[in-house]
Amino acid sequence: MVSSKSKKMIWLIWLIIFPAGLLLTYHFFPPQIAGQEVNLFAFFILMFFVSAMPMVINNTPIFLLQWVSMAVFLTFGLFVEMVMVQLGVIILLLKLKVQKDQLFRLPLNSLMFFAVSLASGIAYFAMGGKTGADVIANPEYFWIATSYPVIHFTLNQLLLSIIQYTVYGRKSSFFEKDLVWESVTSLITFPIGLVLYILYLEVGLLALLFVGVPFVSLSIILHLYYSSVKINDYLQKATEIGHQMAERLQVNDVMELFIFKLSEMLPVDHAFILDVMDREQLHLIYRVEKGRKKPLDLPPLRKNEGISGLVWSTRKSALFHSKKEWKSITKEFLPDAAESIICVPIVRSNEVVGVLLLSSNKKQAFEKSQLMIVDILCSHFAIAIENAKHHEETKAISERCALTRLYNYRYIENKLNDEFSRMQMGERELLSLIILDIDHFKQVNDTYGHQSGNEILCELADRLTHLMNKAGIAARYGGEEFVVLMPDTSKGDALDWAELIRQNIANRPFLLKQHIDESGKNLAVHITASIGVASAPEDADDPLALIRHADRALYVGAKRAGRNRVAEYVK
Ligand code: GH3
Ligand code: MG
Ligand code: MG
Repeated sequence: MVSSKSKKMIWLIWLIIFPAGLLLTYHFFPPQIAGQEVNLFAFFILMFFVSAMPMVINNTPIFLLQWVSMAVFLTFGLFVEMVMVQLGVIILLLKLKVQKDQLFRLPLNSLMFFAVSLASGIAYFAMGGKTGADVIANPEYFWIATSYPVIHFTLNQLLLSIIQYTVYGRKSSFFEKDLVWESVTSLITFPIGLVLYILYLEVGLLALLFVGVPFVSLSIILHLYYSSVKINDYLQKATEIGHQMAERLQVNDVMELFIFKLSEMLPVDHAFILDVMDREQLHLIYRVEKGRKKPLDLPPLRKNEGISGLVWSTRKSALFHSKKEWKSITKEFLPDAAESIICVPIVRSNEVVGVLLLSSNKKQAFEKSQLMIVDILCSHFAIAIENAKHHEETKAISERCALTRLYNYRYIENKLNDEFSRMQMGERELLSLIILDIDHFKQVNDTYGHQSGNEILCELADRLTHLMNKAGIAARYGGEEFVVLMPDTSKGDALDWAELIRQNIANRPFLLKQHIDESGKNLAVHITASIGVASAPEDADDPLALIRHADRALYVGAKRAGRNRVAEYVK
């Protein structure tokens, strides 16, 4: 980032140096255009075409103007070359859609090119070069004309590194990838400039056609080539991100990765993921602002409502370059600063299941090619989300008992292992386990039937869940045995809870829905339970021992002592 102070400084230096410098150049190196006005105009048209087609490689625009400006320099002199390059810089920056806060690049580049033009021009004349010199008839002029681009190129690179260092604070080494590119393009363009000049001396304006047409065609081809390289690059990245998303097993993780990767690729300031609910509404399910998660408390959208609603109903992606373009469509939740927008439907099995909306506070932030990539990523995303949802559901089912919906034995075993690792790491100090077995449950089954036994188990599960609420995790351990895992709970407290559970079971009968008595009421069954309690680290230092000891308390301390009671483990 360049501070606003430095930006002001750049403008100020430009104001002091540039106008005066241009005037002085005009004075000391007057243009030599007499009788060639039309030709000069033709050169400027050529310059316009060349400048309007910059290639951006590694975020560096490659300027292919040098060959035209070199021929102009040799033909019309330093001043004309300078003016042409300055115009070229303006066209280039316009073409690159430089944002307001980057406007300082205009004076910066203007100054740099001014300096390069001036220094290499002076060097040329100092070596004995002349404007309009006949380089064919006089070989020494040929060599001077050849040295001109070498000096020009070297100065240009030197100044670029200095600017990188002083303005952007980058310690870029002189020999970088950009330099390779620039050298390659210069190697091609400068000889062309010399050829253009020589041919112009021989055949006049026709030279522009002979040299200009092939060159402009070449740069169009290069331009296309580079766009395809860029798209290829994006596609490769998209596939990679697709694979990474597929590896995530949690819906939230997938969304997080998706938005993170998108923000890496594109200038995203805000991202929204909306989910189609019951085919009727779009609900916000994920929202990130400048890399930070935001609350989801925004009202749902209906079909055709706002940009997202439109994208949902039309199933077509939308791309907006500035607020002006979308302001009339939406009263949506978009932030005030938003300008550019990409909005893409998330489609699965030919149905829109959600909408992704990305916004940037900059105008012209997104391109059409990027829209395509986001589209592709969205289809990867849809699949990854589906898989993650499926995984979460399967996991939820595998952790629960089908009859009572309580957690099952498998879940509680894992949880116990987790809790013990936490204790070993010092994150937990206490862990208590309550284990409960219904007394004479066989008789209940025999008397009222297995189905009624099931009803009682379900009712007991509900009572346990409500009673414990957040104090512990209730699970069905097997048959008519239940456990409650109580992190951060002392043995004394756990015993109190166990007593509460015992009373809750013994003092309130269980109503059987399927059994109606003579008075038309549901049959009430009284049951009791025996309960054992053990605690870690007091009674056990591994999960199995904790269960075993609670169980032992249950059988020895409660069942054998007469049932319907609570017992703690004693060594
Ligand atoms: P106690 O524990 O007091 O010694 O007597 P009990 O009758 O409960 O004895 P035991 O633990 O040996 O028997 C457990 C009975 O629980 C056996 C089985 O009929 C019943 N049972 C286990 N799982 C289920 C179930 O899912 N549904 C129903 N209805 N009954 C079950
Ligand atoms: Mg039992
Ligand atoms: Mg029993």
